[in-house]
Amino acid sequence: MTPRGKSVAALSRAGAKEANAFQKCIGPGCGREHDLNERVYVCAECGASLEISVPKPALKDAAGLRDLWESRRRSLDSLDRSGVWRFRELLPFAGAAPVVTLLEGNTPLYDAPRSAAYSKLDSLRLKHQGCNPTGSFKDTGMTAAVTQAVVLRARTVVCASTGNTAASLAAYAARAGLRSAILLPHGQISSSKLAQSVDYGAAVREIDGNFDDCMKLIRELGGDPSIYVANSINPFRIEGQKTVAFELIEQCAWRVPDHVVVPGGNLGNSSALGKGFSELLQLGLIRRLPRLSVIQAEGAAPLAHLFASLAAGGRAMKENLPEEIMPVANPKTLATAIKIGSPVSWKKALRSILESGGSVITVSEQEIADAKAVIGRDGIGCEPASATTVAGIRRLAVAGLIRPHDDVVAVLTGHILKDPDYVSHYHRGTLASEAGGPPISGAFRNQPQRVAATKEAVLRSLEGLE
Ligand SMILES: *Cc1c(COP(=O)(O)O)cnc(C)c1O
Ligand SMILES: [Zn+2]
Repeated sequence: MTPRGKSVAALSRAGAKEANAFQKCIGPGCGREHDLNERVYVCAECGASLEISVPKPALKDAAGLRDLWESRRRSLDSLDRSGVWRFRELLPFAGAAPVVTLLEGNTPLYDAPRSAAYSKLDSLRLKHQGCNPTGSFKDTGMTAAVTQAVVLRARTVVCASTGNTAASLAAYAARAGLRSAILLPHGQISSSKLAQSVDYGAAVREIDGNFDDCMKLIRELGGDPSIYVANSINPFRIEGQKTVAFELIEQCAWRVPDHVVVPGGNLGNSSALGKGFSELLQLGLIRRLPRLSVIQAEGAAPLAHLFASLAAGGRAMKENLPEEIMPVANPKTLATAIKIGSPVSWKKALRSILESGGSVITVSEQEIADAKAVIGRDGIGCEPASATTVAGIRRLAVAGLIRPHDDVVAVLTGHILKDPDYVSHYHRGTLASEAGGPPISGAFRNQPQRVAATKEAVLRSLEGLE
């Protein structure tokens, strides 16, 4: 069987109705509907983002859906085993869609006692999306976007990326036998991420500019009929990523956590989680939404700034979503996965955050670095952007917005091996947030030591260790 030869014939049996899913404009007062297979990324009428509306499954009761999803875990079929396609009743694909999968999803939910104590909580759980096939949560969306590229018979799939989207697109395009082209900001991508894209056979193009410049180019390229854009502006990515909400609630035995906390860059992840939770609520599978909070790095925090100004203005925020966001012209953070000044999905994310009663806050480079090391002490390795969550939870707990006994889940977005340079610099004490700037003092430093090749020397070096 070829990697892309897997068909979704089983979908129609399960009740998804292709005819009824469509792409809908989220623009206020517009709401124009576009056909599911129309190759558009923004509304043809007003230019706002699109979101996919999937009809509710025709199952008699919600419990039936829960049992069906759970039973698939025992199946040997790759569509059933994928942590995304296992939930296909709520995805906008049907009939003969040739699914492109690397068995993404099904990631662990860990107890993290040291991270909990650091955050001043009784307990804390970490949902590790870095355990996906290419090492980040991007895979859960990419399986859907590249499947749609095949449905549309695209020849080349493209994206702009801070690294992880590129690695993921490159892998899924390779599985599908499609060409992929990747635009990266020159000199700003971790070498591990770059290595992945190259190995998966993508055409890597390093642009003289930052991520937001790459994104601008992508929008222009998207007009070319040979090209399919796989950035999170693509609503199919969000559809795949929303299944993380289903998987998480299932892992929580259908007891809704009080808080779910995620890092915010382009804000596709937070939008997708919000959409997933609210679909579960509409289906009656959960009775309330978890509070969805987003943490940004101080130097790349356009949504946090907007959120603070709304809160200060005391506006009835839910009803009056602002039309504009002030971009950060020159975003700065060592957490490169969230080094984004002009986030594509801010409106969708803000809507979900406000609906659920969550917040948006910032954390410093020092806080991110220390939180990452604390997560490491729990035996869990993540990349810097992921650690904003634990740093942010600590701040929210200190501010009284999270109570010590609340049930809290942080979503870790990427794997530790995505950025090993950051880790060794932190522990060596040479991690600097700007070239030539003062190093961040690692409160949890753990430096390798050189010792003589004798038993005595090794034992002596271990004396006094805690
Ligand atoms: C992409 C990414 C983020 C940011 O997610 P958005 O959807 O852009 O907000 C955070 N962490 C990691 C590791 C990522 O790859
Ligand atoms: Zn519109």
